Amino acid sequence: MAKIEKQEPKAPERREPVWEYATAPEATDIVRLEDRYGLFVGGEFVEPKSGKYFETINPATEETLAEVAEAGLEDVDLAVTAAREAHQKRWRDLPGTERAKYLFRIARMLQERAREFAVLETMDGGKPIKESRDVDLPLAAAHFFYYAGWADKLEYAFPHRRPRPLGVAGQVIPWNFPILMAAWKLAPALATGNTAVLKPAETTPLTALLLGQVIQEAELPPGVVNIVTGAGETGANVVTHPDVNKVAFTGSTEVGKTIRRALAGTGKHLTLELGGKAANIVFDDAPLDQAVEGVINGIFFNQGHVCCAGSRLLVQEPAFEPLLDKLKDRLQTLRVGNPLDKNTDIGAINSRQQLQKIEELVASGVQEGAEMYQPDCVLPERGFWFRPTLFTNVSQSHRIAREEIFGPVLSILTFRTPAEAVEKANNTPYGLSAGVWTDKGSRILWMAERMKAGVVWANTFNRFDPSSPFGGYKESGFGREGGLHGLEPYLDFDGDSE
Ligand code: NDP
Repeated sequence: MAKIEKQEPKAPERREPVWEYATAPEATDIVRLEDRYGLFVGGEFVEPKSGKYFETINPATEETLAEVAEAGLEDVDLAVTAAREAHQKRWRDLPGTERAKYLFRIARMLQERAREFAVLETMDGGKPIKESRDVDLPLAAAHFFYYAGWADKLEYAFPHRRPRPLGVAGQVIPWNFPILMAAWKLAPALATGNTAVLKPAETTPLTALLLGQVIQEAELPPGVVNIVTGAGETGANVVTHPDVNKVAFTGSTEVGKTIRRALAGTGKHLTLELGGKAANIVFDDAPLDQAVEGVINGIFFNQGHVCCAGSRLLVQEPAFEPLLDKLKDRLQTLRVGNPLDKNTDIGAINSRQQLQKIEELVASGVQEGAEMYQPDCVLPERGFWFRPTLFTNVSQSHRIAREEIFGPVLSILTFRTPAEAVEKANNTPYGLSAGVWTDKGSRILWMAERMKAGVVWANTFNRFDPSSPFGGYKESGFGREGGLHGLEPYLDFDGDSE
């Protein structure tokens, strides 16, 4: 009789379920693109005197979306003249309660048309729809609501100081948060009784122009807001125009310095919100899973095109290995691709020029001896893309630890003591923001006191609220936007303004 061999029952093979996300594209038919956009001057869309137009493209597909007017010197002059006239005849002496009504109306219209704005923002700038829908638009509306509330309370905000508007504000904004930056600039300017000439970035003019339509429909008096599109030269013409009283600029430190030099001695009021190289500091007692989410959000939100991005991660040595493992795992799950897909975490890089800048800085990191890690995600063929990237073995002298990359690239360094963390965090010409992750409240306060940064987030990152002031130290600029502080740069307290 054959011997029956006793076989051990085989353990069922364990398979990790692989869940593929079905595509979930946001429909674009809500957006009505025009072939050509004019300048918004004196309450009307007008053709540019320059006769020039430039194309704005979708960075995820490289398709042309529309042609946009390029404002020349004469166009900027007309816009400033319209703003001056509106200030003197229609806006300056309007009671605060009336100004507030217009701002509330704009805020409500932004909410009503939020989806249209969000889709257009994503098409023109490349950011994921879930961000433009859930962050940019709600915050932009919130800024108008918030400053509408202040418009009739300036005497209470600044008791016994007789606050008066400055006049015409020239405002130049970047491409990373186009509609949100427009709201950050326009809402406090209008609430305080100033009129404005706004220059959106060359690569992302469309939502500002849609805001122009909203402003028209809100029946804001003509000339109170003027929008002049164009490139850097248009921005330079706005800020140096002799009849502009106040300049508010958000953008690169390099251009900020140029503007400051150009304005020296002119008597114009100036606020600058410039670059950053923020430290996100994780202590070994921090809840690591929460910290991972904060670190990921800190650097990969909006493809890292964020002035306050946590682009330098400082990790206390005992937490380095476990945190790195968790970060690498998390990176594998990030979805890079079509920004209009509601599942997308990382969208398109805003422009070819910005992509080249990121590539150049990343190459310098590899060349200088840092160790690069990228997940193996597949990138679309057309458009501008960059994989989420981590660098370890980074020293403080490396360019990737010093320069603003403005892309999805994180440089990881370590530290042993809180004092060393402070030293390394402050070892930068910038000073816009910082993050601290620890279980101990006393340590948060100890760190926050020593950090040379305008904003210090504790156990969170990239939190914004219209009532919270935001702004920098050192080469990150000066002046505050948001909150009560954000009113002050638009006001004169000596009683000798117009
Ligand atoms: P810029 O500083 O050049 O652009 C910001 C805004 O200023 C844009 O509207 C731009 O117009 C305008 N501008 C350009 N030159 C002048 C000038 N001489 N006078 C007045 N306005 C001007 O930033 P870039 O878009 O060139 O980006 C370069 C780098 O700057 C990025 O890689 C990033 O590191 C940093 N950056 C930082 C930002 C921040 O918020 N901290 C925001 C944007 C960029 P136009 O777009 O038409 O050139």
